Amino acid sequence: MDAMSSTPRALPQTLPQTWTRDAGAVEKRDVWTAMKRGLRGRCPRCGEGKLFRAFLKVADGCERCGQDFSGHRADDLPAYLVIVIVGHIIVPLVLSVETNYAPPVALQLAIYLPVTLIASLVLLQPVKGAVVGLQWAFRMHGFDDNPVEGIPPV
Ligand SMILES: [Zn+2]
Repeated sequence: MDAMSSTPRALPQTLPQTWTRDAGAVEKRDVWTAMKRGLRGRCPRCGEGKLFRAFLKVADGCERCGQDFSGHRADDLPAYLVIVIVGHIIVPLVLSVETNYAPPVALQLAIYLPVTLIASLVLLQPVKGAVVGLQWAFRMHGFDDNPVEGIPPV
């Protein structure tokens, strides 16, 4: 009889014996909540601190919870999304108005160009905030760090 098999070694109690979803003890990050907070220009983690320090400059970190924002990589995605959104509003509108009413071209340009410009500028910051919130929630790029101590998971 083998002496090793009769006296099983106890596993260390500090390590989880079975892997579970909670074994990693990572902060839960809800994607929609994070995107909505980003859309409002707030920190995707706590929803209170400001996400932007200028129009399109993401702040270095959250002044409330200390979340580091330097890991975001929004790059050109917000601009592409804004083009898609505004294009899907303006182009059908232009086609519909031209087909049904055919107003003078100068009048149409005087309306559509400023509307397109303003809509793009208005949407750019919220869309960028939502993209940063999405990246944070999925732990993309630089958002895979350990959570700051003392903040309960949201
Ligand atoms: Zn925060």
